[in-house]
Amino acid sequence: MSTSHTAAPDAPLIVALGTSLGRRAHLLQQAVAALAITPQVRILASSDVYDTTPLGGVAKHRFLNAAIRLETTLEPEPLLDVLQSVETALGRTRNQHWEDRTMDLDLVLWGERVIKTPRLVVPHPELHRRRFVLAPAVDLAPQARHPLRDRSLRQLLEALPTTEGDCVRVGPLTLLPMD
Ligand code: ATP
Ligand code: CA
Ligand code: CA
Repeated sequence: MSTSHTAAPDAPLIVALGTSLGRRAHLLQQAVAALAITPQVRILASSDVYDTTPLGGVAKHRFLNAAIRLETTLEPEPLLDVLQSVETALGRTRNQHWEDRTMDLDLVLWGERVIKTPRLVVPHPELHRRRFVLAPAVDLAPQARHPLRDRSLRQLLEALPTTEGDCVRVGPLTLLPMD
């Protein structure tokens, strides 16, 4: 019998990726490769990549954003440890909130789980407001329900104001032109 927590198709574990510094396409592929070789993690699918406007007026460069769907035998905080170690391995430094970064990996949704610890809030508190997270997440699991909003990811994306961020679909991760 499987020990995975996330095999159910309607309870996806979704990690959002974002990068605005350096060889962005290359960094996305390196992040996915690093997770793929993590023993307790299995990647089930990856979204298209989107070229997006930075949020909040701090970052100066456009981002590439994507999302991946995982299953894992890890508990939430050990999974966050893995995500943060991949960020660090890819040159992430932490200074100002929302600044440009080589890699940001956020655990945005884990089925209907609601988690609130000092280190980890799931669903990610901004998930329902961010086109650059919802658009790739909808590629993976349009029907998945936000446990606190009684809406599917697709409904949340469709409800965003059209002024909410410029988010251009670039194409599949595997077909990105390398930078
Ligand atoms: P935002 O959270 O608004 O997207 P950010 O990604 O730039 O901002 P970070 O500096 O990457 O923020 O992370 C700050 C802290 O957020 C992390 O140290 C981590 O403990 C915490 N955190 C809380 N919930 C989550 C989550 N769902 N996924 C990733 N990190 C989280
Ligand atoms: Ca983030
Ligand atoms: Ca983050």
